[in-house]
Amino acid sequence: MTDPDKQVWNDLLANLRTHHAAAWRKWFDDLEPLGIHGGSLVLRARSDVHRDYLRRDCLDAFNDALRSVTGQLLTVRFLDPGDPGPKTTPASKSSLSQRPEPAHAPSEAQLAAHPDALVINPDYGFENFVVGPNNRLAHAASVAVGEKPGHAYNPLFIHGDVGLGKTHLLQAISLRIKQANPSAVIHYVSCDGFISDFMNAVQSGKMSAFRHRFRNVDMLVIDDIHFLAKRDRTQEEFFHTFNTLYQSQKQIVLSCDARPEEIPDLEDRLVSRFNWGLVTKIEAPCYETRVEILKSKARLRHIEMSDAVACHIASKIDSNIRELEGAITKLQLLVAVDKQPITLELARMALGDSPQRVARHPTIDAIINVVTDFYSVKRIDLLGKRRHKSISQPRQVCMYLARKMTRHSLEEIGAHFGNRDHTTVMHAVRTIESKQTADTDFASVVQSLVRSLDDEYVRAS
Ligand code: ADP
Ligand code: MG
Repeated sequence: MTDPDKQVWNDLLANLRTHHAAAWRKWFDDLEPLGIHGGSLVLRARSDVHRDYLRRDCLDAFNDALRSVTGQLLTVRFLDPGDPGPKTTPASKSSLSQRPEPAHAPSEAQLAAHPDALVINPDYGFENFVVGPNNRLAHAASVAVGEKPGHAYNPLFIHGDVGLGKTHLLQAISLRIKQANPSAVIHYVSCDGFISDFMNAVQSGKMSAFRHRFRNVDMLVIDDIHFLAKRDRTQEEFFHTFNTLYQSQKQIVLSCDARPEEIPDLEDRLVSRFNWGLVTKIEAPCYETRVEILKSKARLRHIEMSDAVACHIASKIDSNIRELEGAITKLQLLVAVDKQPITLELARMALGDSPQRVARHPTIDAIINVVTDFYSVKRIDLLGKRRHKSISQPRQVCMYLARKMTRHSLEEIGAHFGNRDHTTVMHAVRTIESKQTADTDFASVVQSLVRSLDDEYVRAS
């Protein structure tokens, strides 16, 4: 690579870091720049996992940064580690200093795998996963599966609320297996990916290609398997996929928002199969674990974060880890713009918190008050057994609000409302969620209830 090209590369890295802070990663430094060829800056990635991730999640940021630093319409191309790169004949090679060219490189948008396959994030390795009391078992089982796929726990079924690290563990397992055996065939899809791939295969009569894709693999990973609920034909197909893989000792890894028994309308034979291996739950992280996760995320982004700042954020945000990440991104942007260190003051300001606004949840009692007021129903009916719609809908709204706004488990919420079981609560939550999507008037009612509960708690604190 010529010196001017090297300069472009260094400028590009600096530009990414300041102007695309949220996309920027420390490991970008390890990309190998091969120079500018035919209107493209060619970069070789460390692995095909990195290449796929760069193509899907980072291309726009790289192109934008490249155009800013060169002032020319160039594009970035990411290559595999095994790719020898463009031939450096005088005709094909053009250093930026010699002969600037317009961009006419092929699009990098196409993905290596099947369109429904998910892309693995190289940051989601075990080395970046903080182990705490909330996830110790799920982590240990994932490591075991990563080391002995098909032989440790099969299937491995990880469940827990949103944003607690299920996808991270699924990807960590995949990364570990790929590291040990780059030729291992891993098919990693969302449940929706499985469903839509199946429906397309049925419609286009391409079932054998579909079956090949899902059954001729060393490991099948399906994220958010709860979306199989109520999908009879897809469940049937998945049942056979499962059996084929299981019988040939191929690994199956699933994530879910609930235990197998709690997935509504899931065939019994699938419920029982999901329980054949190991079913393990991830809980919400405690304060100490949240602090460690923040520090780990900050390290990945090369941000200096003092203990005081990490502790402050961890004490403010106690629900899901994605929100912790959101806070870091916000701080990172501020720091990039203002070039100041992250102080406690800055963190306070960025999180928009007045000092009295501590994380507090409304009580189930407060929720019942607000809902009975709004619907003019009696508390005793709400807590009783009546199933008439005039009662059952407000009851479902209560369960939904309790699930979203408090830390009570499904079981606890069920117990509150006439000793109903957790599946009833889950069903209520789903019903209210989908009704809100379908009916905007209803959605605004629910939103107004949420707001009045929020107000209540601000007044109380
Ligand atoms: P889920 O799939 O359960 O909804 P994700 O795996 O997407 O959750 O996690 C949300 C975010 O939280 C991701 O950025 C993930 O890396 C991070 N995260 C969750 N748990 C941990 C952990 N124990 N250590 C580090 N990061 C974590
Ligand atoms: Mg997930």
